[in-house]
Amino acid sequence: MIRIFAIILMLTSCAHQSPELPDIPELKRTIEILKKAGDIGKLPHFIYAPLKKDSAGYYNRIEDTIHINSRIWPLLTIRQQRMVLIHEIGHGALKRPHLNTIKFEDGCPESIMLYNIAAKCYTDHKEYYLNELFEDKGRIYE
Ligand SMILES: [Zn+2]
Repeated sequence: MIRIFAIILMLTSCAHQSPELPDIPELKRTIEILKKAGDIGKLPHFIYAPLKKDSAGYYNRIEDTIHINSRIWPLLTIRQQRMVLIHEIGHGALKRPHLNTIKFEDGCPESIMLYNIAAKCYTDHKEYYLNELFEDKGRIYE
């Protein structure tokens, strides 16, 4: 009886652990930053592996997986890595579509959900983009 209880307890404690994140540079720090800004809900899976294409990462909604391109990831600055992760988590967790309108006089977009946003925009408007990400502007992938 004690053994059964111990096994049940073990299974219960496993169920409450969050899925382990892959060892992607800046991922844990980026998730901390996002959690301070708002409720990111359920994170998709992450895969850190080489991709043939040159994009740093993309979200596959059928697999509910964010793919990070390990072939070029080490070449990015920390700021670029963080920006890419926020953008992809915007798709994968917050279900945000691309938003391609320009907002600022310096040419920066309304949202970090612009396809191919420049790292300088994220640097110059970081607080704005983190808040904007949690605004309800229509969800996709639902
Ligand atoms: Zn995107």
